[in-house]
Amino acid sequence: MNSHTQSRVENILKHMPIGVALFDAQNFRLLEANALFHSFLSLARQNGQVIGHLLADWFPGKDSSYLQEILRKVAETGIRYYADASPLLIPERGMTYWNITIDPVWDEEGRIVQLIQVVSEITPQVLARQQAEQAHSLLHQVNSKVEAERKRLAVIEMVASSARESLDTVCIGKATSDAIYAHFDIVSIHIHIANAVKQELHLITIPDIDYSQKVLDHLQTVPYTSDMLIAQAHRTRQPIIVEDIQAAVTEGIVSADHPLLAEQHRGYVCIPLWYRDHFEGTLLTIFKKCIAPNEPEVQTLIGCGTHIASALAHARLHAAIEHEHARLLAILDQLPEGVMILEAYDKRISYANAASFQILGTHPTAHLGTTPDTHPLARAVVYLNNEPVPLEDLPLNRSLRGEYISGRETIVTRPDGSKIALLTSSAPLKENNGTITGAVCVFQDITLRKNIEQHKNTFLSIASHELRTPITAIQGFTEILHMKVEQGVSLDTPRSLRAIIGIMEQSQRLTRLIEAMLDLSRIEKTQLFINRAEHDLLAIVSHVLETQTITNKYHIIHFTLEGLAPSDTLMVYIDEDRIDQVLNNLISNAVKYSPIGSEIEVGLHYSPAEAKEALIWVRDQGVGIAANELPHIFERFHRASNFDRSISGLGIGLYLVNELVTRHGGRVWAESIEGQGSTFYVSLPLNAATHASDLSQTSRDA
Ligand code: ADP
Repeated sequence: MNSHTQSRVENILKHMPIGVALFDAQNFRLLEANALFHSFLSLARQNGQVIGHLLADWFPGKDSSYLQEILRKVAETGIRYYADASPLLIPERGMTYWNITIDPVWDEEGRIVQLIQVVSEITPQVLARQQAEQAHSLLHQVNSKVEAERKRLAVIEMVASSARESLDTVCIGKATSDAIYAHFDIVSIHIHIANAVKQELHLITIPDIDYSQKVLDHLQTVPYTSDMLIAQAHRTRQPIIVEDIQAAVTEGIVSADHPLLAEQHRGYVCIPLWYRDHFEGTLLTIFKKCIAPNEPEVQTLIGCGTHIASALAHARLHAAIEHEHARLLAILDQLPEGVMILEAYDKRISYANAASFQILGTHPTAHLGTTPDTHPLARAVVYLNNEPVPLEDLPLNRSLRGEYISGRETIVTRPDGSKIALLTSSAPLKENNGTITGAVCVFQDITLRKNIEQHKNTFLSIASHELRTPITAIQGFTEILHMKVEQGVSLDTPRSLRAIIGIMEQSQRLTRLIEAMLDLSRIEKTQLFINRAEHDLLAIVSHVLETQTITNKYHIIHFTLEGLAPSDTLMVYIDEDRIDQVLNNLISNAVKYSPIGSEIEVGLHYSPAEAKEALIWVRDQGVGIAANELPHIFERFHRASNFDRSISGLGIGLYLVNELVTRHGGRVWAESIEGQGSTFYVSLPLNAATHASDLSQTSRDA
């Protein structure tokens, strides 16, 4: 090589981006090295001093012997040495990385005479690679955390959606425990729900463990005060985690006879289920492995617990609402008034209580789902004056428009054709913001009251007529007598006598009328009292009969005795005057409602064998009573329609008879064939001791 070529080679070597060194293959003397090699060796300071020197001289320490060994190996074997990213600590720069090759250089005879070492720095690449690897591993860590969190959320979501599926606690227990079973390697799950009233926890899941009946009973109901984990969790409000129940037993923390202990049990996680401030129950999970508090399963179970608690709370609230709803419906169904509810959104009747069907005489299904306008009776409603009620005026329709209706009287024709009087009130149903969501109407059957009102009006007009008749007669008789006195005519004449008797009779009639009216008002004010004492009933009946025979000359009155002789006595515990009144009333009616000359039988029956009651009857051959009227003749103001209206009467006599006999503990009834006659029966109890105490007050009304 000429000097020109050599300087060119040196120049190239000097500026090459790699370090190059040439060693003697015999003794590893450094023959030549470029600047970068010097920097590789961190020997820049010794530049020039190392050339021509043995490796051991300028490269001390164990690294030198290591390099020397490598050089020797290459020199001996002729096999190239290659090291990838070999680390080299350079004090000024820190750790650097190099690719190193050592190649043998052969002479013409094939001997290795020199060794050429090439070093190239790859520190930036290595550092970049290391950074990338670090970033990758960090990413991996984050990924696995995210994956674990995703799994946890998936389990929680699954439990949450299972819990949401039902409002029944047992179903919630089953669905959620199934979801947890599916994701964890667990032995069993026990979900208990809290009963705040009894201060107890009740098991709602079926344990997957073959517990003995005794343990099952123990587990079924756990008082809040129990020392079982679930009760403890309620008290502490915090999850209780037992890492290893077996270890806890060994350490004496848990007793060896704990009911929930079994060989394969390890970790216990018990989570109290709170929804806001309400304790809903507990979730106890038993694992086959030990469970530390920071394990993902625990966090997952806590997450599941939140959803189970909220599902149980919803079920509890729903059940409470259902219960209230059912109670309200039960109350409404017990009401004697009819109640109907109309919904605003579809204008249909959504509720009608039992009384509404009874009052309206319709089938229960007839109301529901119809609108007020399509209701079967919608067009059967009329005002009291018989004018039809327009559909838009129906109370429910009006209240849906916001109106309040109170006490409106209408007449409704029921499906069977009967008419009833209704008193209806209705009101809109509003939300807090005033939105009308529906309407409710309440109605009662006032037919009876209306009938009585009508009867009362009739009674008043009849009564005034009845009172006026004797007064007019008395006035007539007194005028006759007065005239006679003025004329100086003696009053001791048959005509005057008839006038005086007439005055007496009409006065008595007047007294009877007034007494009957007074009795009626006494009954209404519950002031009719019975003054009972021991009396001979046979004597009372005989006496009434005597008087009636004298005053009723146009009828033939018989007295029939059964089981008694005229000389007998039949002692009963009665109010003599009142029984007198009863008999007089019945005989007067018999006289009043039967033709002149007909026979009337008054009877008294007593059977010593029965000896419990005496039976009196009054039988006539008069107009009789129609079968459909018979059940009503003892009602106030009721007068049958089968007789001449000129027959006077107020329609209260039989009502009083019934009241008086009933107050004696007796019964009164009638048998009749229209056009042939009637028989009225009165049975009176004989046993004073049985009846005296419970039937009457002994003080007589004023
Ligand atoms: P009244 O003053 O009308 O007689 P009551 O209460 O005594 O009132 O009787 C009620 C109704 O019962 C009478 O209006 C009549 O229609 C019927 N009634 C009562 N007694 C008899 C009878 N003996 N025969 C037929 N109808 C009778």
